[in-house]
Amino acid sequence: MRRTLVLLLALVFSAAFAVAQTRTARTTLDIYVVDVEGGNGVLFVAPSGESMLIDTGNAGAGAVRDAERIAAAAKDAGVTAIDHLIITHWHGDHFGGLAELASRIPIKQFIDHGPNVQPGAAADEFLQKTYPPLYAKAKHMVAKPGDKIPVAGLDVQVVTSAGQTIKTPLSGAGRPNPYCANFKPGENNAEDPQSVGIHVTFGKFRTAHLGDLTKNKEFELMCPNNRLGTVDVLLGLHHGQASSNSEVVVHALRPRVAIMNDGTRKGGEPEVMKTVHSSPGLEDLWQLHFSTLSGQEYTVPGMFIANMVDDQQPGMPVTPFTLPPQGTQAPPAPQHNGTAYWIKVSAQTNGSFTVTNARNGFSKTYSAVK
Ligand SMILES: [Zn+2]
Ligand SMILES: [Zn+2]
Repeated sequence: MRRTLVLLLALVFSAAFAVAQTRTARTTLDIYVVDVEGGNGVLFVAPSGESMLIDTGNAGAGAVRDAERIAAAAKDAGVTAIDHLIITHWHGDHFGGLAELASRIPIKQFIDHGPNVQPGAAADEFLQKTYPPLYAKAKHMVAKPGDKIPVAGLDVQVVTSAGQTIKTPLSGAGRPNPYCANFKPGENNAEDPQSVGIHVTFGKFRTAHLGDLTKNKEFELMCPNNRLGTVDVLLGLHHGQASSNSEVVVHALRPRVAIMNDGTRKGGEPEVMKTVHSSPGLEDLWQLHFSTLSGQEYTVPGMFIANMVDDQQPGMPVTPFTLPPQGTQAPPAPQHNGTAYWIKVSAQTNGSFTVTNARNGFSKTYSAVK
């Protein structure tokens, strides 16, 4: 009897030790780019175990689906709370899943750009009724350019917020940006340019996520001097929409890898695909979705794409689908409510990183630049 007990205790202790070992063994910064159907949901988990989420997916019918997809990524990463949540701006594809997510996992800090500047029933009601009780039980921060978000083990700097940009270059950046000379101003709505944009440093690894920041703000941030320098991975790209992604940001940042949060018929637009693929130093573009707006002409190979559609077509037309003019009824976009897959980045302090497509297991390692 006593021998059994000793054996049992030994087993329990060794199991606990093994768990402790795997916990302390984390050395990478893991980034989960979650498929929230053309919205945004990007989870950072530092080696310290501290987590930071950028956006919570779609509102309405997509809210439960997207919150569960984000919660699944958190579970995979072994995190039991979102330590820092950034809502980049008050569009439904960014804040939409927040209440659903908050009912699934505790959120300790809420970060946003301040009041909504694009009046709309859903966002206004959310900000009046749903949001205040959520952050009342936690911390709330209205981000300003230059602020730091305290994630242990990472240097997270706010570079844009509420239509303002940092004025002083990040350390090591600030050279003249040669792409400013050919800049062409773009169109934008009121909220996209308000996006909270961040730059993250982890040892020698650097990445940036600028929310849905539009071309005109990209110019203010990056011209005449490139205040961000270069990055290894560029995240988001405003779903791959042409109202963002000018050369002043994409080419000047010289990403080795870009990861686009597009949808089945959102983003991946030809103009953006041309800008990204002609970006100096680009090794690969990864996409959350096949987008009919790319067609075979502009899409990347399927192994770099994480998600399909529910009703799989035999083939994608070569010619990109063109949306009818605004105000005209478009046919419904292809649906994806089935299994969703993320794209995961695991970065090391020496600057090397591995990107994995959870759908097909395809994985590629980008070694540190000497
Ligand atoms: Zn999807
Ligand atoms: Zn968006």
